[in-house]
Order: sequence, then C-alpha cells, then structure tokens
Amino acid sequence: MAKKPVLELASVSRLYGSGDSALSILKNAGLKLYEGETVALVAPSGTGKSTLLHIAGLLERPTEGDVLIGGTSCSSLSDEGRTTIRRSSIGFVYQFHHLLPEFSALENIMMPQMIAGLTIPEAKKRAKALLDYMRIGHRGDHRPAELSGGEQQRVAIARAVANAPLLLLADEPTGNLDPETAAYVFSALEALVRQSGLAALIATHNHDLAHRMDRCVTIADGKVIDMKI
Ligand code: ADP
Repeated sequence: MAKKPVLELASVSRLYGSGDSALSILKNAGLKLYEGETVALVAPSGTGKSTLLHIAGLLERPTEGDVLIGGTSCSSLSDEGRTTIRRSSIGFVYQFHHLLPEFSALENIMMPQMIAGLTIPEAKKRAKALLDYMRIGHRGDHRPAELSGGEQQRVAIARAVANAPLLLLADEPTGNLDPETAAYVFSALEALVRQSGLAALIATHNHDLAHRMDRCVTIADGKVIDMKI
C-alpha cells in the first residue's frame, strides 16, 4: 500500500474578510509531504506563507478544504482534537524564538514533554540530549535573555522536536539572524530533521538555504506549485 503523506493539504482555500473587501489568499491549494522529506517554501511577503503554515499546523482553520496529518482528516475535528494532534505530531519554529523568558533553556525544552505526560527525569534527559545535539549543552541553565540570537533559535528548534513530532513547520526560522549565524542555525536544523526522519516545511527567503532542501515550492495565485531555484 502506498505510504500516507505526513502532511496533506487538500484543496485548501483561505479567505480573509467578506464581501467586496474579502481577500482570497489560498485558492484550492494542495501539498503533500512525506516522511523524511524536507521542503522549502519560498514566496514573496504577503503571498500567504504564514497563513499556509498556520493552516498546516492546525492553528488556523481553512475556509474550505481539509488538512490531513498522518492520514487523519482534521477538518471535522473539534478544537480539542486538533490541539491533541498538534501537540503530539507537529513542531513549530517561528522567526522569533518565543521561548518562555522566566525559564531556562533546559526547562523550555522539557515543558512540552511534561505536558505530553513524560516524567521530569525523562523530559530532562531528552532535553539535555537535544541541547547537546544542538551544541549548546553548556547553556542549559541559562534563560533566553542570556543567550545569543542563534542560541535562542537553537533552543527553539530543540523545543519544537522535543516530543518527536511527525512534522516540523518553520516560519522564517533564521530570518532574524545575521547571515553567518543563519547558516549555522539552518545547518543544525537540517541535521536534526534529517537525523530524526521527520517531514519539514520551512518558509525562508534565503535561496541558498532553500536550495539544500529536497524540494522547493512557492505560492502563486493562491496555489502551491513546485519551484526550480
Ligand atoms: P506571508 O507569510 O507570505 O508574508 P501572510 O500569510 O502573513 O503572508 O499573509 C498573506 C496575506 O493575508 C497578507 O496580505 C496579509 O495582510 C493577509 N492576512 C493575514 N492574516 C490576516 C487576517 N487575520 N485578516 C486579514 N488579512 C490577513
């Protein structure tokens, strides 16, 4: 039997507002992402990248169409059902780290695992391993404000994969970093994604970084289309 995509957007449309002022951002957009596949989403500002990522991450509902995560249709699920899938199957990295300022790097990575039901020692063990993997094991006790931008983003990436999701969604994860740090952080993200075999959809303006993904897509006229770069 053919493998089910980790993420499928099926004829997804998203309309903002109504009437004459309605803004049609996605129009019957389709996308499939399979296990272990890394895909860059490269499109000009305002074309709907964040909208698409929010819909794929079950943070926003499409106006029409369906989102399937690991083959499960999410359109008819309650908000609670969608939250359960989001917590167990999807990791998010944003342009800004969104770490909890009053907690240490280690605690920030432990948090989603404890919400998922792991014990403190289990969560700590995995958080430490992830920090080591991201080469910031020595910064575990530091709060976000004590870390550099690149370090904060590496903690955010570790947090996103802490619950071993099926899917990683990243919205300009290196957009706020200088080029050298961006390249370093992106490499760490790529290594983690490839090592863990999860599917990743990464919005980026950086064509050099996008080029390293298995595939590049863009948004044109509300549709997701393959892109040669
Ligand atoms: P991108 O991430 O590619 O910059 P976005 O998905 O953020 O694009 O936004 C796409 C378009 O939708 C923009 O024109 C934006 O102003 C509009 N938009 C986004 N969110 C909303 C909203 N909640 N209400 C109305 N318009 C929105």
